[in-house]
Order: sequence, then structure tokens, then C-alpha cells
Amino acid sequence: MMTCKELAELLQDFLDGELPKEYSDLICHHLRECGPCINFLESYKVTVTMCRKLPPLEMPVEMKERLQAAVREFEEKMSGGSKNSGEPGA
Ligand SMILES: [Zn+2]
Repeated sequence: MMTCKELAELLQDFLDGELPKEYSDLICHHLRECGPCINFLESYKVTVTMCRKLPPLEMPVEMKERLQAAVREFEEKMSGGSKNSGEPGA
């Protein structure tokens, strides 16, 4: 079973359609069982399409950039917070 952190690390390639099928399957499997990850991706309307074995979504560049930023944020969160960010706490 893939962890949320592993998913976050692979998510970029997944969304680019560059991930080998076995990894895509792992991600889809994880997404069926993991609420936080589902909520994260569903807010971008990508989960369902990607996991139905359809061709990769043609995403507008703007949306893709937003998604990439969100993926980074998600990855940081799943990596255990921002303790290494060096930013002062709010
Ligand atoms: Zn998860």
C-alpha cells in the first residue's frame, strides 16, 4: 500500500501521464481508500478521469501550474509540515 507521501511524490508524473502503469494503478488504488488524498485531487477534478484509464486530461496551462503548486504544498504537508522551511511561524 502506497503512503500519502509516496503518492505526493509521484503525483506530478501521474498528472503528466508519465507514470508507468503499475504506479498509476497504485495511485488509483490509494485514492479509492484515502479520504485526504481524494479530497485534495477532487478539488481539481482530476481523480476520476485519471483513474478510469482514459487518455490523460488536456489541462489548460494555467490550471496545470496551479495544480503543480498545490502538489508541492500537499507534498510538504505529507512530509510532516514546514519545520524545515526557515519561515517564521505565523
Ligand atoms: Zn493518501
